[in-house]
Amino acid sequence: MLSEFELIERLRQQVKSQPALRLGIGDDAAEVLFGKHQSPVLVTTDMLMDQVHFDLASTDPKLIGRKSLAVNLSDIAAMGGEAIAVVISYAFSQGAPATLGEQLHAGIVELADQYGVAVAGGDTNSWKGPLVISVTALGQPIGSHSIERSGAQEGDIIFVTGELGGSLAGSHLTFEPRLREARALVENYDVHALIDLSDGISSDLQHILRESNVGAIVEADLIPISAAARASGGKEKSPLDHALHDGEDFELLFTLASAEASRLLADPTLAGTPVSQIGSITSGSEAWLKVQGELVPLKRQGWEHSL
Ligand SMILES: [Mg+2]
Repeated sequence: MLSEFELIERLRQQVKSQPALRLGIGDDAAEVLFGKHQSPVLVTTDMLMDQVHFDLASTDPKLIGRKSLAVNLSDIAAMGGEAIAVVISYAFSQGAPATLGEQLHAGIVELADQYGVAVAGGDTNSWKGPLVISVTALGQPIGSHSIERSGAQEGDIIFVTGELGGSLAGSHLTFEPRLREARALVENYDVHALIDLSDGISSDLQHILRESNVGAIVEADLIPISAAARASGGKEKSPLDHALHDGEDFELLFTLASAEASRLLADPTLAGTPVSQIGSITSGSEAWLKVQGELVPLKRQGWEHSL
């Protein structure tokens, strides 16, 4: 079977370029040009499935609804965008409780209201399979253009918002999509590259390196390790391993030229959220981890789904 990345690459090759498609498959969201003013519109979609992305039997449906929206808002933030509207499609399992839809939707509406996002509509179906929720979010770049994965340059400093690792302990359901932080970043800094951490730094940094044709050195000592990662660290996986490889942190990773980085480091917060310098962009194409002065390859590791 193909990996997810191989499959996406094949699908990407099937698509022809169209004038309206300014940025297609391969970033956190696509950018499409609308109307006579060619206004840029961001669009992204995510499908969450019971027993793959959540466990309905053991999770508050309101949190499942919330997460379904939050992951999409995170992708809009990862383009340097603001979210405008969402549509939601549900495939309910036949025999699901009558109140399930309202419970799921309550979590969605609460988060949408919090960020001023319009819940514009969607579709409902039922079938013999498990619950599936598909959310599509529309947004627009905050600045004059969206921030892509492909803009990192040699010499850039790499930053992340917040703390990393251990999301399975609960934050994968309750994280705040970093929309406010993305706004503060885009309005105040010349951002070269931006992505959200859905699969862990060891995976997501690779996307920036590949799209930008650069390499990177990440410094182990600089990684902001969350309390949950420290608590879940053990013999097989250290707290640092959790911080580097766990999925679903949904923090932002971005790169700034060194002068911009110095400005941010004078007050290392965005919209009140701490940011950490974790390394730098280099020539080449490899990701390296600097541990006690030595460079070791920063290899992608399969991440655990949040069941
Ligand atoms: Mg993303």
